[in-house]
Amino acid sequence: MLKLDRQKIKDIIEREKPKRVGLAAPDGLLNVLPELAAYVESFNVESVIFGEPSYGTCDLNVADLQLLNLDLIFNVGHATAVESIGKVYLIDAQYELETGKLASELFKYLKNTRFTKPAFFTTSNYKDVTKNLKNDLKSLGIKAIESGAFPGMFEGQVFGCNYYSAVLAREADILVFVGQSPFHAAGLALSSEKTTVMADPHTGTVEDVSKTAGILYKAAVARIMLAKNANKIGVIVGLKDGQMFYKKARWISKRLISIGKESAVLAIREVVPWKLNAIRGFDAFVEMACPRIPMADRGFDRPVLSYPEGLGLLRILNKMELGNPYKMSVLY
Ligand code: SF4
Repeated sequence: MLKLDRQKIKDIIEREKPKRVGLAAPDGLLNVLPELAAYVESFNVESVIFGEPSYGTCDLNVADLQLLNLDLIFNVGHATAVESIGKVYLIDAQYELETGKLASELFKYLKNTRFTKPAFFTTSNYKDVTKNLKNDLKSLGIKAIESGAFPGMFEGQVFGCNYYSAVLAREADILVFVGQSPFHAAGLALSSEKTTVMADPHTGTVEDVSKTAGILYKAAVARIMLAKNANKIGVIVGLKDGQMFYKKARWISKRLISIGKESAVLAIREVVPWKLNAIRGFDAFVEMACPRIPMADRGFDRPVLSYPEGLGLLRILNKMELGNPYKMSVLY
């Protein structure tokens, strides 16, 4: 069960005295917004629900503050270590799950594989579960290695584009991702090149993600090799507030042109197959918005590379070894 920090919403309303607020959430939490709207309106504050999902702290509807004349936005489910980013307040939503069974599974796994120094990583909604799991494991005699924290994020927090917290856990011999996202767990494995398991508190299971990581890596290599033969390559700037890397997009485009490709810079809010497939005149794309897009979205009719994969493409075009394009702690 997910527990929302309603007290924080109340405190902020009493402190900031907004007249109109926006309410945003990721896909899985959009259903809690109508009830939250009623809660906000009970304080005599107007509320507007954003009907499109917020993908993360890269997607905070900042430009919509002005469009809808909002005093602030409550973004639910993407809490970090900071209370707000500008006028967008990050509201915590934590899973409340029992961790005893998972701790004993993890203990068995570590004993069988002879790893002794685990470091723990997770996403926003499993922060409390992770803390409890670490305590359970400690009581079984295994102490976790301290994970790092990227500025503004909590200890061990990862995004699909930011695995910096793993860089600081140098002494760890195994990384444990707590949650239910093979994508984040595999991303952790790819960026760290360390053995990584996903500890799922919903099912109480522990799974090595090296196979998933290998599949993602091979798919990326295939995309890069296909893009190598493209003549015209579009470089896409994301239009969401935290996905707008114009200078990097321009830099990649210029580098491609200097190597003999044709290239232009495009701007798109949502990089999804039905939009990109309708844009003709390019043989491949490099998108700067989010590294998850090429990994998660099937259905693109031409190769679409993320920023790290775009850097990999430049290496190949410059006749260098590809290596591991994901061996970056921050993928943007
Ligand atoms: S992985 Fe993508 S959706 Fe998640 S925070 Fe990064 S840019 Fe946003």
